[in-house]
Amino acid sequence: MNQYQGSCMCGEVKFSFSGTPRFIKDCVCDSCRRAHGASAVCWVGVATSQFDFDSGEVSLSWYRSSAESERGFCTTCGTRILFRSSKWPGEIHMAVACMATPHDLVATDVVFKDELPAWSAMSLGDRTL
Ligand SMILES: [Zn+2]
Ligand SMILES: [Zn+2]
Repeated sequence: MNQYQGSCMCGEVKFSFSGTPRFIKDCVCDSCRRAHGASAVCWVGVATSQFDFDSGEVSLSWYRSSAESERGFCTTCGTRILFRSSKWPGEIHMAVACMATPHDLVATDVVFKDELPAWSAMSLGDRTL
């Protein structure tokens, strides 16, 4: 069975998951953009039973970013690592950028494209410079 490890920037929070992900997608929604300070966030989603903390769970804090959703981050370095929501019960989403490389996790789709900002180079397909 495939095993994947990940961590925050400072290495305090370490986590892993095993098995086949439910999805791997780039999200360009406004909420992810602001939370991560980035144009897009690539997420890998698994069942919570596939996920485990390896160390540093006490350094993880959850920020409620909407009525349904929470975003997990390292309280030492501030890295946003995790997402969970009552919209997707029994699931946890991890930022692929936090996974140890090399790995074979590749996004298959972009979601919330209607929220992609005009300033992102990812919008270039829809306009000319
Ligand atoms: Zn950290
Ligand atoms: Zn998003």
